[in-house]
Amino acid sequence: MKKILIIEDEESIADLEKDYLELSGFQVEIANDGEKGLELALEGEYDLFILDLMLPGVDGFEICREIRAVKNTPVIMVSAKKEDIDKIRGLGLGADDYITKPFSPSEMVARVKAHLSRYDRLINSGGPVNDVIQIRGLKIDKTARRVWVNGEEKGFTTKEFDLLAFLAQNPNRVFTKEELFNKIWAMDSMGQIATVTVHIKKLREKIEYDTTRPQYIETIWGVGYRFKV
Ligand code: CA
Repeated sequence: MKKILIIEDEESIADLEKDYLELSGFQVEIANDGEKGLELALEGEYDLFILDLMLPGVDGFEICREIRAVKNTPVIMVSAKKEDIDKIRGLGLGADDYITKPFSPSEMVARVKAHLSRYDRLINSGGPVNDVIQIRGLKIDKTARRVWVNGEEKGFTTKEFDLLAFLAQNPNRVFTKEELFNKIWAMDSMGQIATVTVHIKKLREKIEYDTTRPQYIETIWGVGYRFKV
């Protein structure tokens, strides 16, 4: 049986939510203040949280932040004010859904079911794993399009990133400038072959310790480039 924690200081609302959820077959616990809610949320085993924003003690912002630091359990945030909902969306605290009071209990139950089944699918598929290439001190997250060099994140333009990711996922293969140009810039009529050289130089400045003796992107004289593994 799925277990839900309601963190809500207005007892009549909490009881109403609990009744509807229990009728739908869920096991439900209620915490009526922020401290108790946070403690239960962090220590207990729950499948979903319904979290009120304005709470005595620790507020919903803080509770959501602390839950997200350690758990991916779905969080549905509830607030009496539409403006607060906009604010928490903007903060990117990682809540999965937002409901404005007053809401219909059956709508809330429908959302709870939707989030639980979505979360089950994620868990059963092993979670949303990013496509990451890790080669020595270089880490390329292709899903998030982010790059770290020796633990430090570096910024890349779109084409720089595309070129780096393409080379890194085809290691130890030599590509001519023409091949790289066709691969990365093919749709971009503004480009010229020389742009490959310029981008390789920029990539090296960002990822190589010593650009005169590159450890990642090697120049194969008279042919092109190769990503060394
Ligand atoms: Ca409240």
